[in-house]
Amino acid sequence: MAKDFYDILGVSKSASADEIKRAYRKKAHQFHPDKGGGNEEKFKEVNEAYQVLSDSAKKTQYDRFGDNYQNTAGGGQSGPFGGGFDFNGFGGQDGVEFDLGDIFSDIFGGREQRQSRRSRGVDLEMPMTIGFEESMHGVTKTITLEKQDKCHVCEGSGAAPGAKVITCPKCHGQGQIITTRRTIFGNMQSASTCDKCDGDGKVPETPCSVCSGSGVLRRPKTIEVKIPAGIDNGQRVRVTGEGEVGYKGSNPGDLYITVRVTPSKEFRRDGVNLHKEIPVSFIQASLGTKVEVKTVDETLEVKVPAGTQPGTVLKLSGKGVPVVNSGRRGDLLLTVRVIIPQKLSKQEKELIEELARLEGESVHVNKSFWENIKDSF
Ligand SMILES: [Zn+2]
Ligand SMILES: [Zn+2]
Repeated sequence: MAKDFYDILGVSKSASADEIKRAYRKKAHQFHPDKGGGNEEKFKEVNEAYQVLSDSAKKTQYDRFGDNYQNTAGGGQSGPFGGGFDFNGFGGQDGVEFDLGDIFSDIFGGREQRQSRRSRGVDLEMPMTIGFEESMHGVTKTITLEKQDKCHVCEGSGAAPGAKVITCPKCHGQGQIITTRRTIFGNMQSASTCDKCDGDGKVPETPCSVCSGSGVLRRPKTIEVKIPAGIDNGQRVRVTGEGEVGYKGSNPGDLYITVRVTPSKEFRRDGVNLHKEIPVSFIQASLGTKVEVKTVDETLEVKVPAGTQPGTVLKLSGKGVPVVNSGRRGDLLLTVRVIIPQKLSKQEKELIEELARLEGESVHVNKSFWENIKDSF
């Protein structure tokens, strides 16, 4: 979105020059970066807004383009009622914004360039593999990554230790280089940001020898990363401010860590719930039993009621996955697997056959050929 300079200063469009000045002083004081609670980005915005609104020529230009812009960007609201105004035909809001930017850089000279040189550092992304247990309990990992960081010798100032700060010899402290061209319409002036001081108007007399005055340096940095309990495979953790630094070591980007979780042999995760199988014998399932179940935190005794069918799901509430940063947990769902014995002792077999007779069930279907022959005599 294009910036609304009136909004930034918190004044109405009809504000007088005096009101604008007062609002600017208040905001500039509030956001001054040297102050605790200051905000460099906001401070720059406020200054930018004041630069325009305090200059009657620039203000007139801005008001005109501003109105124009609003009519266009507001197409979502006014378009359908305006009749035949196809907002999308202009390539969307981005297109409009881009056009406005061009107009502004023509008027004020080099504003775009200056902004991009002082931009925020890039975000970094890296993968990390952790164990299933670690994903359940949370873990702190120490990682080392090589990135563009603030120069540790000059702390981003670009000045050699103890170096004097002098007025930029190239732009004589103006921060801008004005070029005058002769054209058939007369002399045309254009301004661009001074490349020696990046618009500061000041340079150190001796640049920092470690970073050659850039204020930034590529070097390895070791940081601790806290992975919260409950993180799922494929989720990302943002480490604020641990991306690469921007202009002169300021405005760092963020570091994003994509977490891979090694699957568990015991548990299957489904959202915030965990699934696990508990094997019981057919006798235990018939008569009921208590089994010891290992959850991710502890060992619990779980009651399997008499007559439990294979595939029955027993729920242990709140014993599942911790919901990240909430204190809540999902459930642990236990699926009962009933084990049928594959080999029986002679005595076991007799007892079960006795049971079959009691129930009047026909058995002996799996007798061997010879046993069948024997029985038929
Ligand atoms: Zn340095
Ligand atoms: Zn300069």
